[in-house]
Amino acid sequence: MLPYGTIKDAEAALGRNLTFAESLWFHYSADKSDYFLYCHNILFLFLAFSLVPIPFICMELRRSDTFDRYKIQPKVRLTLSEVVKCYKDVLRMFFLVVGPLQLVSYPSIKWAYEKIHHIHHEFTAPIGFAAPYAHWAEILVLGIPSFLGPALVPGHMITFWLWVALRQVEAIETHCGYNLPWSPTKYIPFYGGAEYHDYHHYVGEQSHSNFASVFTYCDYIYGTDKGYQYHKKLLSKLKEESRRGGDQNGEQFSYSDQDRKCD
Ligand SMILES: [Zn+2]
Ligand SMILES: [Zn+2]
Repeated sequence: MLPYGTIKDAEAALGRNLTFAESLWFHYSADKSDYFLYCHNILFLFLAFSLVPIPFICMELRRSDTFDRYKIQPKVRLTLSEVVKCYKDVLRMFFLVVGPLQLVSYPSIKWAYEKIHHIHHEFTAPIGFAAPYAHWAEILVLGIPSFLGPALVPGHMITFWLWVALRQVEAIETHCGYNLPWSPTKYIPFYGGAEYHDYHHYVGEQSHSNFASVFTYCDYIYGTDKGYQYHKKLLSKLKEESRRGGDQNGEQFSYSDQDRKCD
């Protein structure tokens, strides 16, 4: 459900006309619930399951010299009935497992924040010890990815110790509250780091910003770093203006807390 009742409201809020694609999306989605829109995923998954393999299945059944040279196991030939059986099994799994999973996996961001994640946000200006400061359920869920990899693909014991230690160091550095220019993580592409995650804590529930601590391009793709980018631009503008003013008046740069809460 969109937060605007009419196209005029949306255009007034954005300060510009809607594009053709945005108008189409508005007309389709404005009066539908988020849950109903989310459930469309079942249709898209069904279409992808059913339609994307078709060109490859045609190649498999027709077996012409044109495509046979690209066949990885050319001696294997499947019949139409084997292909149909495979599709029927996939469909059964789709309706029994994949579809119902979509219906119950609707993300409840507000609920998760209020019941679980808000504890991690008690520190609006995080410190190193606040990295694992969270609800027990969050610690449990976030611990799964750290231990799942080594559990599935066991490596050398020292590699495991190093991995667990590095995961902690990464979380502590992200929450340390200092944007140190000599931090080695500055050389990791797309790495968020302390300054990036500090903004996530700073705005907290007010703004869905900067979810990533490592892969910041995800926030860029989903547009969840817009407040942060705006905030950074505003701060550098204030610094520049203050520097110019300071040069003239001999004053030091300063900005108020209200300036920081700019998004
Ligand atoms: Zn955090
Ligand atoms: Zn958070």
